[in-house]
Amino acid sequence: MTVPAPTAVTPAFDAATASAAYRNALQVIGAVEPRIADAIGAELADQRGSLKLIASENYASPAVLLTMGNWLSDKYAEGTVGHRFYAGCQNVDTVEALAAEHARELFGAAHAYVQPHSGIDANLVAFWAVLAQKVELPALTKAGAKHVNDLSDDDWATLRSALGDQRMLGMSLDAGGHLTHGFRPNISGKMFAQSSYGTDPETGLLDYAALRAQAREFRPLILMAGYSAYPRKVDFAAMREIADEVDATLVVDMAHFAGLVAGKVFRGDFDPVPHAHVVTSTTHKSLRGPRGGLVLAQPEFADAVDRGCPMVLGGPLPHVMAAKAVALAEARMPMFADYAQAVVDNAVALAEGLMRRGVRLVTGGTDNHLVLLDVSTFGLTGRQAESALLDAGIVTNRNSVPADPQGAWYTSGIRLGTPALTTRGFGADDFDRTAALIADVLAGTSPTTTSAGEPSRAKYTMDDGLADRTRAAAAELLDAHPLYPGLDLG
Ligand SMILES: *Cc1c(COP(=O)(O)O)cnc(C)c1O
Repeated sequence: MTVPAPTAVTPAFDAATASAAYRNALQVIGAVEPRIADAIGAELADQRGSLKLIASENYASPAVLLTMGNWLSDKYAEGTVGHRFYAGCQNVDTVEALAAEHARELFGAAHAYVQPHSGIDANLVAFWAVLAQKVELPALTKAGAKHVNDLSDDDWATLRSALGDQRMLGMSLDAGGHLTHGFRPNISGKMFAQSSYGTDPETGLLDYAALRAQAREFRPLILMAGYSAYPRKVDFAAMREIADEVDATLVVDMAHFAGLVAGKVFRGDFDPVPHAHVVTSTTHKSLRGPRGGLVLAQPEFADAVDRGCPMVLGGPLPHVMAAKAVALAEARMPMFADYAQAVVDNAVALAEGLMRRGVRLVTGGTDNHLVLLDVSTFGLTGRQAESALLDAGIVTNRNSVPADPQGAWYTSGIRLGTPALTTRGFGADDFDRTAALIADVLAGTSPTTTSAGEPSRAKYTMDDGLADRTRAAAAELLDAHPLYPGLDLG
């Protein structure tokens, strides 16, 4: 068998060794519950066979993945390195210390806390740390409800008042912000009175002057920056200036773009680490590590951040911290900087390919890893576009656009990201081909008409043969760039 070479932007691995490792592991698993072994194998086939443009997903290396399947998982290790509430944590200490060291070195951070189990958990750690560090409480008042889920808006107001009525200013959801940045379905929206900043209606870009005025008016405890669906760089130096002016703490959630920070594509004013008081992240998106989170902090927040477990987190996951250490070590290799640059170059190629074919993009382009399409010009909702693209073998997700007339469920947007396919070795030409496929699907899809004579927001028809034709073209692209080249489960 000839084994295709790994791409220049992904870590090399020995295909025969990795194949043997996975085959043996699946045999051991299958002896207990064969349906789980089958599902694991089927997931590899699905991942290999789909043109994955989900901006938050990626493919971790075999080394990262294999690091998670072992007995480190069996160890309880509440506490921090050298200060555990359990005996026998010397190996977990080694693992956690290495992961934190790699994170500090990679991002040039004063402090790193690598225990959060996910990005949302990392944000909780950060918010609690800021409250703990910055707020002196008046006596707690009685809330009156039996269960926190029963707390009325008034009760939450009482709690917020007990916390001294702290405020959070975050990016609005339809401008690309995240639920954990002070919105009601998340605890952050209950702990803090929230106000959100949007983008300029003309350009779709952040308006720092407007944000400054809003911050002066609102005077937040936390100025939250970071996004899940904003296709542009953010000037974190300007954000810090604004925070300082109103005596706010700048928390940057780099969950989506941590890989671009790690790969030094976002430098200077666009690197959050030197500017923010606290930085939170996932490790599994553009950073290409295991599913998890981390927090970086300036020294004054380090102790408060380290209290994440047990304040808001369950016991640390030593096997995942080990995988974070491996992924962060990979991200410190020169190959990762090439990867990060390719992610952005590819997003630009995708954006230009789409615009050249008549697709409207929010902000008219990109300078990060994601592209946000406004599909309303095709008479479609995001929901219809997402489903039609999926029928054609292209995996994306629908997303609101600023001031979206279709709301958060149907939406008018499609979000695309390049991190995953770039890991597979896709280059600019491949993304231009991908743009052509997407534009064809959008142009060849129409909403059906409801009984009331209105265009449906969910149902659609596609031109004859379009889905099959696109699937075949997508398969060709995927075959040219195999995922985990040479990895064979037998
Ligand atoms: C994905 C994301 C998160 C949540 O990460 P999870 O690991 O899913 O909890 C938080 N913040 C932002 C900005 C994100 O994009």
